Amino acid sequence: MISAKIQDAINAQINRELYSEYLYLAMAAWAYDQNWNGIGGWLDAQAAEEHSHGLRFVKYLVDRGGRVQYKAIAEPKGEFASVEEVFRLALEHERFVTKSIYELTDLAIKENDHATRTMLTWFIDEQVEEESNFETLVAQLGHIEGSKGALYHFDHQLGKRKAE
Ligand code: MG
Repeated sequence: MISAKIQDAINAQINRELYSEYLYLAMAAWAYDQNWNGIGGWLDAQAAEEHSHGLRFVKYLVDRGGRVQYKAIAEPKGEFASVEEVFRLALEHERFVTKSIYELTDLAIKENDHATRTMLTWFIDEQVEEESNFETLVAQLGHIEGSKGALYHFDHQLGKRKAE
């Protein structure tokens, strides 16, 4: 049986992962509206990944005999000034998610919940990937600043990502 404290913290994390899905869907919709279809497709694939993160926590909670509680998902921002802003905000968001995974790990250690602690190591590694991906894209956008041609190339490159 899982403690009420850990159960609540995991339910909060499920909400954060599903909010991440919602946020990237909103960013994708904005990109499609701007005719950046490659970027939109990339963000849709990212949203699908966030959905799978949420369900990974759901499965874990069920496996531990906990109760899943789906809380209301906050409305994400839907208007963006530029592609650069989208990726800068996404990077900031992933840093926030990393912090929340660390806090959850701190709580699992404090509560001597070793199963939760080891389950979270997958997410700790995953966040290294997520931050690195977004850092690269933000840096690339920094390089191409002002060049429409380079932004078309960026859009084309991102369009190659396949949903997992
Ligand atoms: Mg995630």
